[in-house]
Amino acid sequence: MVERVPHLASRLQGFGTTIFAEMTELAARTGAVNLGQGFPDEDGPPEVLDAAVEAIRSGRNQYPPGRGVPELRAAIARHQQRFYGLAYDPDTEVLVTAGATEAIAAACLALCEPGDEVVVLEPTYDSYQASIAMAGARPVFVTLRPPDHRLDVDALRAAVTPRTRLLLVNTPHNPTGTVLDEAELAAVAELAHERDLLVVTDEVYEHLTFDGRRHVPLATLPGMRDRTVVISSAGKTFRTTGWKVGWVCAPAPLVTAVTTAKQFLTYAGGAPFQPAVAVGLDLPDDYFRGVAADLAAKRDLLCAGLAAAGFEVFRPSATYFVTVDIRPLRPDGDGMAFCRELPERCGVVAIPTQVFYGDPARGRHLVRFSFARRTEVLAEAVARLGQLGGGGPGGPPPEAHGGAA
Ligand code: PMP
Ligand code: GLN
Repeated sequence: MVERVPHLASRLQGFGTTIFAEMTELAARTGAVNLGQGFPDEDGPPEVLDAAVEAIRSGRNQYPPGRGVPELRAAIARHQQRFYGLAYDPDTEVLVTAGATEAIAAACLALCEPGDEVVVLEPTYDSYQASIAMAGARPVFVTLRPPDHRLDVDALRAAVTPRTRLLLVNTPHNPTGTVLDEAELAAVAELAHERDLLVVTDEVYEHLTFDGRRHVPLATLPGMRDRTVVISSAGKTFRTTGWKVGWVCAPAPLVTAVTTAKQFLTYAGGAPFQPAVAVGLDLPDDYFRGVAADLAAKRDLLCAGLAAAGFEVFRPSATYFVTVDIRPLRPDGDGMAFCRELPERCGVVAIPTQVFYGDPARGRHLVRFSFARRTEVLAEAVARLGQLGGGGPGGPPPEAHGGAA
């Protein structure tokens, strides 16, 4: 049970410190290889970095327009057209945000009444539940279950009630690496039409798909553009997670609604980074293919290492992340204890996936590792993880297998 935090409003009780902060701090303190938080350890394309330096040097350091600088809004619109055939008016249908995180919060705050329900795919990215709570709304979970982590369409239908206001759909999905397929997307669209629901899509991993799988935005399905708020971000695609440049694309009335909330969260941000992201979005197709191919090779390396270490590995089709079941190595299935002990046992940090579940018990035995790291860092992590099962140096103390409830 999470402790009550003094002074904190009741709607935020229970959220505590984010697991990313806790685990990154643990990695720094112990010197462990950090495969926790999802950030790359290499910089993005030089053209994009140079454009940011140039923007700072040329004085683009004051408040940008609230909706974002015109060249970025135009580049976002071109990107949606080029990759998906989706047309958005850069002046009225595009909004630049402080990362996808702000876009998600602003969408929840703008579109939900207190007491409304938001249907989310569980496990959820960590900010979803907090953003929904800040809007006074309530999450309703549709669980993606191992080993395949596919969408259970019947469960999705059952989750929709007369109080449902939004379907908040993350694909490609963090942390499972699931990319919703044609039939799953069609089922979401059918439900949205039937029940007249708005859909918010989180597509931050849109370019990071593997094995020939392609991300298809829900907004491209017949009739869906009009009811969908598309959210994405530059962080993952251009390896610039610290820049926090994200965006929203939607019909003008929806963008206006989300902008109303956004302007009182940050108003605007990231002035010199916005023109740099515009340069990134216009990079040739090879760049986007290259990032995905690089990550696919890293996925293979880490998945093989985790399997060799004895975990049950759920191979992802996208994103930065792979989820494992720890029970072959730790029969009590306590993922939180496992992650807190892992730096000491073998010098690696990972994320206990249970924090992404409405009821942590549903994901207690699952742990997420990030492969968005340099190959040599992954190789070192794999070597360290290989020591876990063997009982050699760094192996588990006997009590670690104690099977405590
Ligand atoms: N959605 C998902 C699914 C994510 O994994 C993340 C973070 N990586 C975000 C949103 C937040 O993106 P940003 O860093 O642009 O705020
Ligand atoms: N999205 C990143 C992840 O899932 C972390 C973002 C954050 O630290 N808030 O690891």
